[in-house]
Amino acid sequence: MSVTVDLHSHTTASDGRLSPSELIHLFGKRGLKTVAITDHDTTNGLEEALKTKRAYPDMTLIPGVELSADSKDTEMHLLGYFLDYEDDSFQKTLSKFREGRVGRAMTMVKKLSDLGVKLKWERVLEFAGDGAVGRPHIARTMIEMGYVASMSEAFDKYLGRGMAVYAERDKFSPLDAIELIHSVNGLAVLAHPSWVDNLESQLPALVEAGLAGMEVHYSRYSSGLIAELESMANRFGLVSCGGSDYHANNDPGESLPGDQGPPQESVDRLKEIAMARISTH
Ligand code: AMP
Ligand code: FE
Ligand code: FE
Ligand code: ZN
Repeated sequence: MSVTVDLHSHTTASDGRLSPSELIHLFGKRGLKTVAITDHDTTNGLEEALKTKRAYPDMTLIPGVELSADSKDTEMHLLGYFLDYEDDSFQKTLSKFREGRVGRAMTMVKKLSDLGVKLKWERVLEFAGDGAVGRPHIARTMIEMGYVASMSEAFDKYLGRGMAVYAERDKFSPLDAIELIHSVNGLAVLAHPSWVDNLESQLPALVEAGLAGMEVHYSRYSSGLIAELESMANRFGLVSCGGSDYHANNDPGESLPGDQGPPQESVDRLKEIAMARISTH
């Protein structure tokens, strides 16, 4: 049976390659009924997406965001859903984190230059366009200049965490990220949890802070891993979420929206939690 829910996707507002409108049309073509756009540190793609979505009356678009957070030695990404994203102070916080991305990308371009990988900073910015600049924009510049053949080669050789070129930027702690999401009445969901070190020992604090779900039906997960994460989510009382994490990178093997995702029941459970929290405010 085909999947009709995709709760994780990116547009040109961050490091995706499709505009919000193009992504909505792709969702429509792929028969998706409930979707979330979760750009890194920005909600700037949502207005255009909501406009385009009017052409698909039976599609629901959940306003989302993806925040990167650091705890002891591990990075985690937190997805926020059902956000009152127009809130001023929320937008100020996001724009502060986007500014941090620019300085950090500049540092990485300098470090690459020291290694003989000479990139034009202006070209990186052109790839980022109006969007939040990230390592994928540096990777695309490297591919264009012929230094690497693919995004994954750029990350494996240069840009990945722990590589010589990698630079840190200001990040939230996981609890701060959850708090920021809650400050605009959102629900927090842990993204691609298999990449979190010591996941089981990290979860209790996140659950205590109000984490609502974690990704289980993630595009790149095998059925074995999905089963394992599903049972963990159940043990911690978390809703099993997920989606494509689609960036339109066109890398070999990149899966499309609708290839994998959670059942509609997961969306219903998230909505119930959101309603219950609003009514206890
Ligand atoms: P940044 O937001 O600048 O830290 O960059 C992280 C983004 O880079 C992720 O959201 C992915 O889109 C992309 N990314 C991370 N690791 C890889 C990889 N190994 N291959 C391709 N893209 C990656
Ligand atoms: Fe990304
Ligand atoms: Fe992520
Ligand atoms: Zn993502």
